[in-house]
Amino acid sequence: MANTPYPESYYAASANAVPPRPALQDDVETDVCVIGAGYTGLSAALFLLESGFRVTVLEAAKVGFGASGRNGGQIVNSYSRDIDVIERSVGPKQAQLLGQMAFEGGRIIRERVARYNIQCDLKDGGVFAAITPKQMGHLESQKRLWERFGHTQLELMDQRRIREVVACDQYVGGMLDMSGGHIHPLNLALGEAAAVESLGGTLYEQSPAVRIERGANPVVHTPQGKVRAKFIIVAGNAYLGNLVPELAAKSMPCGTQVITTEPLGDALAKSLLPQDYCVEDCNYLLDYYRLSGDKRLIFGGGVVYGARDPANIEAIIRPKMLKAFPQLKDVKIDYAWTGNFLLTLSRLPQVGRLGDNIYYSQGCSGHGVTYTHLAGKVLAEALRGQAERFDAFADLPHHPFPGGQLLRTPFAALGAWYYGLRDKFGY
Ligand SMILES: Cc1cc2nc3c(=O)[nH]c(=O)nc-3n(C[C@H](O)[C@H](O)[C@H](O)COP(=O)(O)OP(=O)(O)OC[C@H]3O[C@@H](n4cnc5c(N)ncnc54)[C@H](O)[C@@H]3O)c2cc1C
Repeated sequence: MANTPYPESYYAASANAVPPRPALQDDVETDVCVIGAGYTGLSAALFLLESGFRVTVLEAAKVGFGASGRNGGQIVNSYSRDIDVIERSVGPKQAQLLGQMAFEGGRIIRERVARYNIQCDLKDGGVFAAITPKQMGHLESQKRLWERFGHTQLELMDQRRIREVVACDQYVGGMLDMSGGHIHPLNLALGEAAAVESLGGTLYEQSPAVRIERGANPVVHTPQGKVRAKFIIVAGNAYLGNLVPELAAKSMPCGTQVITTEPLGDALAKSLLPQDYCVEDCNYLLDYYRLSGDKRLIFGGGVVYGARDPANIEAIIRPKMLKAFPQLKDVKIDYAWTGNFLLTLSRLPQVGRLGDNIYYSQGCSGHGVTYTHLAGKVLAEALRGQAERFDAFADLPHHPFPGGQLLRTPFAALGAWYYGLRDKFGY
């Protein structure tokens, strides 16, 4: 049977040591079978175990193999579409519930890190950087909007103030969110997996779910075993493939790329990001960056629609990094990798039930580190019979991409090209 290792990345190279985990080779019984050991699956597993459920997690490759072990590590609050857009689409009552939850994921991460003593270089503080006055205006209204839902800890920054926290001349201003921050994403996932096991959960790696037998007593099949469960949670996100065809129709895997420099040393690192905050700009096709625990610059950006792996990642991302920080022109890139996130047309997560006992959450469209942690909690609530918050997500409308499976990639790329042009010309 294939043994899929982690893709080469800075995170894989600096991962905390973990024990080997077996592949499923038996016929086992559990309350909840979770498919996928990324943040969604691990967060759901932890909340369910804490509520007394028996949980078995199946992971096709290794814990954090997908986006959760490869991402920019930025704890960004709210969703990939903001609450005012949601409000216009679904009305004030549902938007109110979603707005109240928009900052909960970050709190869950911090609570998990503290309770389970997870070593993942957690740092507080995230900056949204405006390149144009129009983007700055958007941040001003976003601050008012988020404060309306009770989220404080936000500071608007003018050009002088943002220059104190980011040594980049591109920005006209920004917004600092002290409840944002950053983490070593793979080590967070590995720590959460260890927490799952510490509570009696079982985790199988190299154990892809290849078929779900639906019905009153569903069974999940892997190549060498099966799991009989009362409930199934599908948390395979962009790596799920066609296991659940209903879910594939309204979402599209997309790639984004990350590079990591050699260690910069304390002085150079501090000169770039003196407070060690993470940064993302406000473009539609955005750049995001931060320092690692050992003072490298981790810089991400770019989107490949349809998730084909680009041939030379460094050639795509390095120029973006040098545009922000020309002072790094002689710095070597030690790692470059790509990972897939799942895009929906509305850029809002796709959440719901299939029949009575199969639950899913996927497709948070870019900003997923916080949302996936919240999703785990909301899924666990729904399995416990408290579905109000789950339903607030499940009731969000979703539509297929124009062009169907065949043409959705070129159509989405065309849309992104249009928005990229708007970014470029500052519209
Ligand atoms: C390069 C990159 C950078 C990003 N940067 C950020 C960022 O800085 N901040 C932010 O908020 N968000 C970021 N994101 C998005 C964020 O990482 C994701 O939204 C989030 O990690 C998704 O978590 P997940 O658990 O839903 O999916 P994943 O982490 O992708 O996990 C899904 C897991 O399911 C497994 N799986 C799939 N199918 C099966 C099957 N049939 N059987 C068993 N297992 C299966 C996969 O192997 C995988 O391990 C980024 C994404 C990428 C790719």
